[in-house]
Amino acid sequence: MTLLGNELVVELDRYRQRARDWLAEVTIPEVPLPLTEKFAVLRDWQKSLYAAGWVGIAWSTDAGGQGLTPLHHLVFTEELARARAPQPIGLIGLDVVGPSIERYGTSWQRTELLPRLLSGDDIWCQGFSEPEAGSDLASLRTRAVIDGDYFVVSGQKVWTSWAHMSQWCALLVRTDPNAPKHKGISYLLVDMSSPGITVRPLVQMTGDEEFCEVFFDEVRVPRRNLVGQLNEGWPLAIHTLGTERAGYTLRRRVDYEVAVDDAVSEIRHRLRGEGAPDRVNSAIGRTQVALRVLDAQTRKTITRLADKLGPTPEDSVDKLLLNDLEQDIFASIAELLGPLRSSPSARPFGLNTERWVHDHLYSRATSIYGGTSQIQRNIIAERLLGLPRG
Ligand SMILES: Cc1cc2nc3c(=O)[nH]c(=O)nc-3n(C[C@H](O)[C@H](O)[C@H](O)COP(=O)(O)OP(=O)(O)OC[C@H]3O[C@@H](n4cnc5c(N)ncnc54)[C@H](O)[C@@H]3O)c2cc1C
Repeated sequence: MTLLGNELVVELDRYRQRARDWLAEVTIPEVPLPLTEKFAVLRDWQKSLYAAGWVGIAWSTDAGGQGLTPLHHLVFTEELARARAPQPIGLIGLDVVGPSIERYGTSWQRTELLPRLLSGDDIWCQGFSEPEAGSDLASLRTRAVIDGDYFVVSGQKVWTSWAHMSQWCALLVRTDPNAPKHKGISYLLVDMSSPGITVRPLVQMTGDEEFCEVFFDEVRVPRRNLVGQLNEGWPLAIHTLGTERAGYTLRRRVDYEVAVDDAVSEIRHRLRGEGAPDRVNSAIGRTQVALRVLDAQTRKTITRLADKLGPTPEDSVDKLLLNDLEQDIFASIAELLGPLRSSPSARPFGLNTERWVHDHLYSRATSIYGGTSQIQRNIIAERLLGLPRG
């Protein structure tokens, strides 16, 4: 276990102060809830962050990054949340597929594609899940056949977040149908404007159309868009899934602290000196306990980051904890609102019920995306505890 060296601690403090100074000067955008408006505002915000050197903080400089450490990235993410500033829009590129392209991509892929991913000029989506391949991802059937300098891709993906807004997709395809299911999978980078791609948005329970079905009908993808080796995409897919889990806890922890702070101060304002009912006090108490548990866990995560271990099965512990906490926290906030949450578009007593109702509904997705809670438990049982496969 690494303890942070004194020099690094001083450097991180300095970096935190720089972030605070910058965030105090810049105009922080208001984020509208309707999806298309939100997308436009957050894309502009990503461009401003990139121009000021706050995106790709831990990425190498040849890929357009700043060449600093994951801890610098964490420090900036914390300051962003504490300043009530939004995250950039391209998080699937930045936190999920981009790190795998940075690690396994060719020099052309890294230098041509990644700087535009960081700047927000190109938005990326992750084409992994299919109608019959979610938890059992290795059963995927979208196929790619080699034809000269191209792969020809046919099949269907589903739940592809932001596919309708994306310029690029990191796509898992089956390139050898005769190999065992974890073999014969390849990792392709697909230009979403290619002929033969149809994207159909799906409506979520929040009312947003954030994810989509994506159909591929003989889509031609240049062979230089293959990441890693032909038929050896599975370890890369595992890297992408691990990256999604690692670091996510650190980012969300501060978001929750801010959400709980905001909700409690809105409720306090509404009560205006009256004593809070027991129901309110116990919901606030529960959120505080949940945050302290997450704090304790993230200390271990920070140590792993400092040790530069990359994604590990331990990330599943973080993800599982986070799934439960996010749902507990937003359910508690919804409980704080009481019957007022049934008027989400108004602002009764100044309460931002629209935000809280949206976040409460969205929190139901946490135990599904990035691998369901049941799958995280399986990983912990098999890979951390060494129990036999169920
Ligand atoms: C908001 C949101 C955004 C998403 N974005 C993307 C995206 O951008 N790209 C992408 O590729 N995918 C995305 N997904 C898909 C997500 O990864 C899948 O939904 C998830 O992997 C589960 O797959 P599934 O929906 O097919 O459910 P299934 O795999 O069919 O699972 C159904 C139920 O069975 C349980 N189950 C399945 N297998 C086991 C097992 N072996 N042991 C115990 N229980 C099991 C599951 O836990 C679940 O409760 C997104 C999902 C959501 C909700």
